[in-house]
Amino acid sequence: MKRSHNRSRNKKTGKADKNLDMADFQSATTVHDKKTHSTSGAQQPSLLSSLWSVLFVISSALIGFAAFRNTLTWHLQRFWGASGDFWQALWDRLLDVTGEDPFTFWVYGTTVLTVAVYWIFGGIYTILDVTNKPAVLRRYKVQPGTNEPVDTKRLLQVIGWVLFNQIVVGMPIAYLSYVLMKWRGSPPLRELPTFHWVLVEMAVHILMEEIGFYYSHRVLHSRYLYRFIHKRHHEWTAPIAVTAMYCHPLESIFSNLLPIFLGVFIMGSHVATAWLWFSLAILSTLNAHSGYHLPFFPSPEAHDFHHLKFNQCFGVLGVLDRIHGTDTLFRNTRAYTRHVMMLSLIPPREAFPDESKCSSKQRN
Ligand SMILES: [Zn+2]
Ligand SMILES: [Zn+2]
Repeated sequence: MKRSHNRSRNKKTGKADKNLDMADFQSATTVHDKKTHSTSGAQQPSLLSSLWSVLFVISSALIGFAAFRNTLTWHLQRFWGASGDFWQALWDRLLDVTGEDPFTFWVYGTTVLTVAVYWIFGGIYTILDVTNKPAVLRRYKVQPGTNEPVDTKRLLQVIGWVLFNQIVVGMPIAYLSYVLMKWRGSPPLRELPTFHWVLVEMAVHILMEEIGFYYSHRVLHSRYLYRFIHKRHHEWTAPIAVTAMYCHPLESIFSNLLPIFLGVFIMGSHVATAWLWFSLAILSTLNAHSGYHLPFFPSPEAHDFHHLKFNQCFGVLGVLDRIHGTDTLFRNTRAYTRHVMMLSLIPPREAFPDESKCSSKQRN
């Protein structure tokens, strides 16, 4: 917006210069008059109006955001208030059965929950990939013609490595998380946190994951670490959901598990909040690797593009990619045009087909 405004200002200055050249043929006083007129007439109001418009945009965005946030949290809080007792009662019942040893929750609980979430939802995606049905889903493929159907031998290799990472590698890390949380201190096990506090913590978890994942991932793309560690994850240039945790054990620890745990440690989260966050993070990474850009799902285009091109889109949210300029190539592609949550049933490849390159140029 700012850029277009500058452009129009330059145009105006250009016009004023032209007027000035023509006025050279006229008397000096007329030139002087014209010059002062063009300066005060064109530049001052445009500067003022640009300041006003910037102020207007910022203030209305802030007001809009505050109103939206208040409305949203008010509704959610109402929902939570009504169901909060229900969740607390459920939690109490669980604790009555399991006992209240934090070790059970942080180590066994976390492992069982994360493995279950990963394979229940990853399993659904895998059934679609293996059977190649329902046919309508082919239209939502990010890279059509890939894994249709998926190669069974490759899939079994993935399942084996992922289970290894989740159990053999994951359980000692879960134990480490228990030790760290015991040292750090976390809220009483029996008392669930308030809804607003869960939201605050989630924001921190998401931010910390972005930082932890982006930088560890970029380091993994350095020559030696890529060759010896990260290459395994990149064997899939067109990923499927369950390849999300298909990687070298060291990558699993430093790039997958620790960035997700970082915010939990910093905030000293309740184990229930941590479980909610781990589940969301798993669902998010399964979607990012799924190879399907489904309606009403977050767009998987950026990470899919990373698997296709290797040196673009290292982050989860894309904020750090923008700051570090590691998405410049991506932003010049059709995939970037499709990188939105689809709010209709039209497949992204049909809504934004490859052929219409004109509009792609226009965008950039
Ligand atoms: Zn990946
Ligand atoms: Zn990578």
